[in-house]
Amino acid sequence: TDHELDYPASPDQMDWASHYPAYFPAKDGTEQKQVEWADVGCGFGGLIMALGPQFPDTLMLGMEIRVSVTQYVADRIAHQRQLADKPGGYQNVSVIRANSMKHMPNFFAKGQLSKIFFLFPDPHFKLRKQKARIVTTALLAEYAYVLRPGGIMYTVTDVKDLHEWMDAHSRAHKLFEYIPTEEMVDDPILLAARTATEEGRKVERNGGDKWVACFRRLPDPEA
Ligand code: SAM
Repeated sequence: TDHELDYPASPDQMDWASHYPAYFPAKDGTEQKQVEWADVGCGFGGLIMALGPQFPDTLMLGMEIRVSVTQYVADRIAHQRQLADKPGGYQNVSVIRANSMKHMPNFFAKGQLSKIFFLFPDPHFKLRKQKARIVTTALLAEYAYVLRPGGIMYTVTDVKDLHEWMDAHSRAHKLFEYIPTEEMVDDPILLAARTATEEGRKVERNGGDKWVACFRRLPDPEA
C-alpha cells in the first residue's frame, strides 16, 4: 500500500538481480557490477532515461517516494527494454520506490555511489517546512556515507531560495567541496541533469531560471 515502504535491512539484503537481470550474476571473471548513480526524487524518470543509453556500462537507479510515479517509471523502463533499440537496451536503468530521506544506507553500502542527483527537489517554501528539505546537514552525512571520495553530488533547482539553502549547507559540510560550475561546463551529465528531467523541461518552457551547484565528496579525514 501507499503507507508501507519496502526496504532492505542492509544493502547486502537487496535483490539487485531483479532490477538489472542482464548484469547479474557477473560474467565469468568480471567483478559484479553495482548501482553507482542514484537520482533522488527521480519523478517521471527523465534523467535516467536520458543517461542510460549514454552510459550503458553504468548501473543507475531512480528513487521515488510516490507509488504511481514509481510504477510509471518502471513501465517506461520495461517498455524501452522490450524495444532494446539503444546502447545497453536500458538494462542498466531501474527505479525503486523509496524514502530517500530515511533509507539511503539501507540500499547502498559505504562509498558505493559515484554520483547522486537532486534535481528540482520539492522546495518546501514555508519556514516551518524547511527541515523537510531533502538536503539538510543531517542528511548530507548520509549522502556522504553512500558516496565514494571523489564522487559528485549534483543539485539543480529553479527556486533560488532552495538553491541558496542547498549550496550553503553543502559548502559548510566538511565532507563536501564545491566544484566551480566553470569546471563542469563540458560535463554531459550536468547537461542532462539541467535539461532532461520533466521538471527541468517545464521550467524551460516557462522561461524560468535554473540554479546549479555541484559538490565533490572529499576523502574521510584521517582518524
Ligand atoms: N527530479 C524530478 C524532475 O526533475 O523532474 C522530479 C522533481 S519533483 C518536483 C520532486 C520529486 O521528489 C517528486 O516526484 C517527489 O515525489 C519526490 N520525493 C519527495 N520526497 C522524496 C523522498 N523523501 N524520497 C524520494 N522521493 C521523494
